[in-house]
Amino acid sequence: MTSFEAPYLDGIHPQVGRVIEEIESFGKHLEFAWDDGVVLHTHMRMSGSWHLYHPGERWRRPQREMVVSIGVDQWRAVCFNAPTVESYRSFDKRRHPGFGHVGPDLCKDHPDIDSCLDRMDRFTDPDEPMAEVLLDQRIACGVGNVYKSEVLWRCGVNPFRAIREIDHETRRRLLEMSAEMLRSNRHRVRRVTAPEAPGGLAVYGRNGLPCPRCGDAVRVKRTGQHLRATYWCPTCQAAPARALLTEVTPTGLVRPIAADPHPAAAQFLRELADRRARYADAAGA
Ligand SMILES: [Zn+2]
Repeated sequence: MTSFEAPYLDGIHPQVGRVIEEIESFGKHLEFAWDDGVVLHTHMRMSGSWHLYHPGERWRRPQREMVVSIGVDQWRAVCFNAPTVESYRSFDKRRHPGFGHVGPDLCKDHPDIDSCLDRMDRFTDPDEPMAEVLLDQRIACGVGNVYKSEVLWRCGVNPFRAIREIDHETRRRLLEMSAEMLRSNRHRVRRVTAPEAPGGLAVYGRNGLPCPRCGDAVRVKRTGQHLRATYWCPTCQAAPARALLTEVTPTGLVRPIAADPHPAAAQFLRELADRRARYADAAGA
């Protein structure tokens, strides 16, 4: 390493002349490990990004947004706007003093789903909604806000149900579906999680538009510490804990094959036509 700058870093600064041994990403976490055991951890959340530049190349973001700059021969890696920049000295690079071990990366081939399930079993807050649990990097890495909504919709699971209400089999399906969606998008420029939906996404960003499975209007709600948006279909995802049974029609559409037995869901379905009409009026007005 030929240069290191991190104006806001409150922790050990890696030394110029040291060798960067390893760079690893876990979802939106990125970790650099130097040969003297110093580890730099950045978390992108919604705002951060890393860029690579040649010497003298013009940056695509202003200097004041830089939080880390790491120079090596012929390259400079610059991180902009990451809310988390911290460093620590590690004997085990996978261990972080703040959040403990991070879970398996679902973007990689053959992720350890059983380990993710174990982590869910040991989850400290049994009342945490499933939408938040899927984003929790201590269980698995890779699921961001878009995939969270799309995976829950595909599996027919209500995003606001607590983890304790979701059975083991459904948890496994959610994790396997997450891994499948992440992997199938690994080399795509435009994310596609629901080929049957216009734009390739079933619910994310489609507030008020028809659900590609049942036609009900997609809803949005902001929850959790960071007020992240969760999009869901109130009909397909009314099922409390058990996943909806679905079939694939000859045209490739996935639709429920059994009416939901939950009384609230049954009432919801009875009122659906009425609500759709009201929505159509509102949209037309
Ligand atoms: Zn639906």
